[in-house]
Amino acid sequence: MVVGGGLAGVRSVEALRARGFAGLITLIGEERHRPYDRPPLSKAVLAGETDSTAVDSDLDALDVTVRLGTAAKGLRDGVLETTEGEIEYDGLVIATGATPIRLRGEGRQYVLRTIDDARALRERLTPGTRVAVIGAGWIGAEVATAAARAGCAVTVIEAAEAPLAGALGPEVGAYTIPWYAEAGVELRLGAPVGSVDPDGITLMSGTRVRADVVVTGIGVRPAVDWLKGSGVAVDNGVLVDEHLRSTLPNVVAVGDCANWWSRRYGRRMRVEHWDTAISAPDTAAATLLGEDAVYDPVPYFWSEQFGRMVQFAGDRIGAERTLLRGDPRTDAKWAVCWLTAEDRLAAILTVDRPRDVVQGRRIAERGQRLDPRRLTDPSVPLRDC
Ligand code: FAD
Repeated sequence: MVVGGGLAGVRSVEALRARGFAGLITLIGEERHRPYDRPPLSKAVLAGETDSTAVDSDLDALDVTVRLGTAAKGLRDGVLETTEGEIEYDGLVIATGATPIRLRGEGRQYVLRTIDDARALRERLTPGTRVAVIGAGWIGAEVATAAARAGCAVTVIEAAEAPLAGALGPEVGAYTIPWYAEAGVELRLGAPVGSVDPDGITLMSGTRVRADVVVTGIGVRPAVDWLKGSGVAVDNGVLVDEHLRSTLPNVVAVGDCANWWSRRYGRRMRVEHWDTAISAPDTAAATLLGEDAVYDPVPYFWSEQFGRMVQFAGDRIGAERTLLRGDPRTDAKWAVCWLTAEDRLAAILTVDRPRDVVQGRRIAERGQRLDPRRLTDPSVPLRDC
């Protein structure tokens, strides 16, 4: 049984079949859509370039019973309780993803998680519409990109002193500040929002920001409330070990809702990115089938903002210093490397330097040491540093 009809859910079905599981598989999904990819929602779908992002998986050939429009409500003694009745299971994959956080206030808040969200927002992105985006994170920057291209008057409101401060730290995040003005987007930093009102936003400072459309992009919470009282331990997602096993026998978790133990980093990780949803299900399927598999990736993700391809690999926690490859103020293409005290690559951010991120991820996986002097010369391939 797989709960959650998103990417991690459908990949779990594929992984179980690929590993030879011939028993019954049921895929339960709360949404009424067949599994689809989310990254294009804030890119091609908002831009009006496509209307469907269905995952290219042949569910009929996988011989899976798909129950859409069905939400899991609880779990007890080998029985899954759903809105459509109870279903027994021998093994269970939890892949219920995450849900957007909303702010206080009476005004309508658009969020961007589902294809329905993306279509509803796209309808409103017309020339001259005043769009306020709350949060200059990955999603906020992508929504601002699409809204500005559609001719909207866009203001991005961010509580921190720099965009992407949580993900990259304020110093590195600040390198992206000029991108907003270049795209004709107003960026207000250090401006925590108090409430969303029918005619815009009130900041904590009392300042009003008028807007026709308010988009809240301040993060997500793992969708695990339905597991309360089930015996599956939850703390910022489903707690799973390095095999993606939960605290309940024969129950594993993958994707945005899984908080796994990383051997590599010696701590728990919950990563809300596409690559994790794609890669974790193979380990989870192996674990359910009694094999000894460990999930231990160097995380990776990308974002497309203001005409740039931004990619990140690794984990910057524990890094001692950052080094630049290229100058973000003058070069169109640049990268930032986070190094440990022993000059090992902990993480890398690249802007339109895709080779660096591919090589950097491999270097981080191997725990290889780098020569900091060579590293700062962007003409030297990273693998030769
Ligand atoms: P989800 O895709 O959220 O799927 C979970 C499914 O479970 C949902 O369909 C949900 O309805 C269902 N569900 C929830 N609760 C229940 C329940 N109780 N019962 C039954 N079903 C339930 N990542 C990148 O690396 N790069 C990007 O550029 C990028 N862009 C993104 C843009 C957007 C707009 C969004 C929203 C995400 C983006 N991501 C990106 C992140 C990436 O898409 C996610 O990490 C990935 O979708 C996670 O997959 P998942 O299957 O774990 O969760």
